[in-house]
Amino acid sequence: MTHLGYSVKEDLLIEKYRPLKQIVPSSLCLTCDVCCRFPEETSFLAPFFTRDEIERLGPAESRFFHSPATGSKIKLQHHGEGCICPYFDPKTQYCKIYGERPLDCRIYPFALMRDPAGVVVLGIDTKCPYIQMHATDPQMKRDAEEVAAFLESESILPILATHPALIGPYQDDVITLRLLERITEAVGRSHPPIQP
Ligand code: SF4
Ligand code: SF4
Repeated sequence: MTHLGYSVKEDLLIEKYRPLKQIVPSSLCLTCDVCCRFPEETSFLAPFFTRDEIERLGPAESRFFHSPATGSKIKLQHHGEGCICPYFDPKTQYCKIYGERPLDCRIYPFALMRDPAGVVVLGIDTKCPYIQMHATDPQMKRDAEEVAAFLESESILPILATHPALIGPYQDDVITLRLLERITEAVGRSHPPIQP
């Protein structure tokens, strides 16, 4: 059974993501040159797509992924002096798959990473200009609690447990906000090798 080209199962995936609100105003993102651009083709910051997220894009899109059958990071494309996500339109600054963008992109500028002891933590990325301006706002703490509850919810936790590569390595320009005990318990403390 399909609805607007997607199966009911696939639509449920986007329903699961719906509680996550966008904290950065779109007007700021449209004037910013941080997201969706990367310094090199092998950047570990390239977004990771789960298997279901790749399937949802359709068979022709699997060419953009290293391992579409299991979920993987997207293959970045050379653009100017660096690289971009193939779904980024540098002319308009828009994501061409905005409604279907992956969880990894949806949570940004929050970030999932491991602290030096291997515990999964929720952080905020100071590479984002919005975070540079608002990291200490009381609202940021409230937003972080909402994002943590979302990520540790019954609907999202199994996705993270199946795709531990969604949890990145420690980055010292990401401010740690809180530990995520339920996710740590689900994925363990040791980081799997970073997959392409
Ligand atoms: S870095 Fe922040 S402000 Fe810039 S595009 Fe990304 S989320 Fe928007
Ligand atoms: S999927 Fe969209 S939001 Fe994510 S990196 Fe690519 S262009 Fe940016």
